[in-house]
Amino acid sequence: MAESTLYKKKLEGKVAIVTGGASGIGEATAHVFAKHGARMVVIADVQKEVGQQVAKSIGLNHSAYIHCDVTDEEQVKAMVEWTVKNYGQLDIMFSNAGIFSRSDQTVLDLDLSALDHLFAINVRGTAACVKHSARAMVERGVRGTIVCTASIAASRGAFQKTDYFMSKHAVLGLVRSASRQLGEHGVRVNCVSPAVVATPMSYSAFGMDAEKLHEAFEPHSSLKGVALKAEHVADAVLFLASDDSGFVNGHDLLVDGGWLDT
Ligand code: NAD
Repeated sequence: MAESTLYKKKLEGKVAIVTGGASGIGEATAHVFAKHGARMVVIADVQKEVGQQVAKSIGLNHSAYIHCDVTDEEQVKAMVEWTVKNYGQLDIMFSNAGIFSRSDQTVLDLDLSALDHLFAINVRGTAACVKHSARAMVERGVRGTIVCTASIAASRGAFQKTDYFMSKHAVLGLVRSASRQLGEHGVRVNCVSPAVVATPMSYSAFGMDAEKLHEAFEPHSSLKGVALKAEHVADAVLFLASDDSGFVNGHDLLVDGGWLDT
């Protein structure tokens, strides 16, 4: 059989929102969604120029940029409404926007204002995206999918970066609760949990380029010689967003090369 007939597009005709779509994991996922036939991929971010550039590189007939600060519930609501108004419905929400800890704080010197800021994006922002996308799906009877970006930080403790680890535990709690509550409407909610991925976030968090990150974190992975890229995470998100995962709900899909098992 020819390769082209074996290749199946998994998101034909779907309308998706990707928050944090201007960079890193979100950007890679927006491209994968479009490659898999999504009718429209809305890039929602606070970085206007780069976000518009990502939409342009996908093709403006299949992608658009919208400015949305996920800490502002009104902006999240407006983004979902704008998407439904312009493209008819919302099938997929990839709630991925997030930031990393500003410092190496332990609980002894926890900076609570920094924690508030981080929680506003990673926790409150994710909750607003799940809430308003779920409402749009349930109100229209759309059997949609919601995928959040948690982290390996969602299921273990840390010696520092306390606020970040707390925030990702909260994302996992949200996903597990929302999946139970929305299952009866046919809306599935899952998350991906990557290890350290080569993206602008980790470059600045660890002060390393992609090669140095790979060297530093490879010992944690059982897959030697493979560097974790945003595209690996995007493929996992595609699985959770598509019908390929039709009976998967409330799941935390580790993309960690076996880190948490080693
Ligand atoms: P990134 O910095 O490359 O991308 C994050 C994007 O989120 C940026 O485009 C940024 O502008 C956007 N963003 C930040 N605050 C926002 C806000 N208030 N409203 C809307 N958009 C906002 O980082 P990334 O590594 O691609 O991170 C994406 C997600 O993956 C985050 O949730 C992060 O916690 C998670 N994650 C990253 C890693 C890693 O090693 N890079 C590992 C595990 C989990």
